[in-house]
Amino acid sequence: MIIRLNHWIAGATVDAADGRTFDDVNPATGEVIAQVARGGAEDIRAAVQAARSAMDGPWGRSSAEERAAILEAAATAIERRTDELAEMESQDTGKPLAQARKIDIPRAVANMRFFAGAVRYDETGFYPMPGAFNYTLRKPVGVVGLITPWNLPLYLLTWKVAPALAMGNAVVAKPSELTPLTASALAQILGEAGLPDGAFNLVHGLGAEAGQALVEHPEVRGISFTGGTETGAAVATTAAPLFKKLSLELGGKNPTLVFADCDFDKAVAGSCRAAMTNQGQICLSGSRILVERSLYQRFLPALVKRVESLQVGDPSKAETHMGSLISQEHRDKVESYLELARQEGGTILCGGKRPQLPSPFDQGAFLQPAVIADLPHDSRTATEEIFGPVVSVHPFDSEDEAVKMANSVRYGLSASVWTRDLDRAHRLGRRLETGMVWVNTWLLRDLRVPFGGVKNSGVGREGGRWSMEFFSEATNICVAVEEEA
Ligand code: NAP
Repeated sequence: MIIRLNHWIAGATVDAADGRTFDDVNPATGEVIAQVARGGAEDIRAAVQAARSAMDGPWGRSSAEERAAILEAAATAIERRTDELAEMESQDTGKPLAQARKIDIPRAVANMRFFAGAVRYDETGFYPMPGAFNYTLRKPVGVVGLITPWNLPLYLLTWKVAPALAMGNAVVAKPSELTPLTASALAQILGEAGLPDGAFNLVHGLGAEAGQALVEHPEVRGISFTGGTETGAAVATTAAPLFKKLSLELGGKNPTLVFADCDFDKAVAGSCRAAMTNQGQICLSGSRILVERSLYQRFLPALVKRVESLQVGDPSKAETHMGSLISQEHRDKVESYLELARQEGGTILCGGKRPQLPSPFDQGAFLQPAVIADLPHDSRTATEEIFGPVVSVHPFDSEDEAVKMANSVRYGLSASVWTRDLDRAHRLGRRLETGMVWVNTWLLRDLRVPFGGVKNSGVGREGGRWSMEFFSEATNICVAVEEEA
């Protein structure tokens, strides 16, 4: 059955102003699962107007406690609907249902709960001085635009929606055109949780149409964007002359550094997990593995064995580790990098082929996970973001060389280091040019810590107080005090 998804503006579902729609496809089967309103500038105008009205109404005067209660109620509703939302996420992205149930949806619940708590206990500065005292007031930015990618749809949308609402902003969200299902469900959940009409608006559509119109709109005072580096540059080009607050969470080509003194089994398992979780479609994916030469010959076959053991296929089966990629076009792009790897002298040790699967999955965008050796560490395959189940492995001779190789790419999102040497771990934490460094783990997240990248991986940080600062304007109030009566 093909469902119909509309925008959510001023607390109601509405068609696109010009009536246009686009198809939402399940990439694991090629089936059309929804017809979605295709938004443009007129829909964005209506959504921004609704958001503005919400800011001018009771929502703009709401207390932190009222907002926290709404986020709590939404978290509880998401949790209650975990199975249904996980099913939607799996159908939209092709990812294993078990992963959506275990990672994506619980994290959306955690995002809402975390910022409900954080805003309740938020503190700002107090600065007494002779003859006066100062205090800091956090005011909402106003109407903010949230633009999110397809790889972790509800997880990343709630990562922005929760702090934006917690701080009292009104939101216009534009999710990826490839994954609209859970965004629509969230709109309904927030409405049922008691959010006033207009405080959360959703416009579906294409980046170049709805996304661009949202970034251009002069009344949208902040843009929080997560997506590719090239798109981020286009968003920044539009937003900068309009002096909007801008947060950019962009791509990565993250190194996993494996030293000879590591716990070998954990390092192999961790490197495989970092490279292949979510079909390698995570900004934090460890897509290049740097291994100390004395361990290299032992590490490679162990990694290949582990990667070959990953089951690719029907996303609804409990034993499936990897589902399909997001689309046929994206699989073509990933495959073109495998061809490039061959031209650049790489040896594909395993994977890289389309698996033979029964109907309807024979129409899906599946790809066997690939491990590549023998590539120069500065080749295009080893330095460009592929965003798929492809990892290259490179030997190094010294800690200095490992750091140079790790830092040699234009990205700087995250790194993971596998070593038992505590001094080395701290040294590398300082020397690696990334926003995040994991030691003997990967993607272990505390929502209070700063999240974000350096270089071409982005500008700004999300998480905890960093998100709360982004979604508010700090205002200094200076009150003169007569010392003598
Ligand atoms: P994308 O193509 O850059 O799209 C991201 C979002 O931007 C989508 O909603 C897209 O809409 C929209 N968009 C496209 N063109 C736009 C424009 N001109 N103006 C405004 N919005 C526009 O990225 P993606 O392919 O969805 O996601 C994969 C990328 O995201 C990877 O590079 C990955 O590393 C990155 N990512 C980064 C993080 C992080 O936290 N650093 C997290 C996850 C993913 P359409 O879908 O309609 O094109």
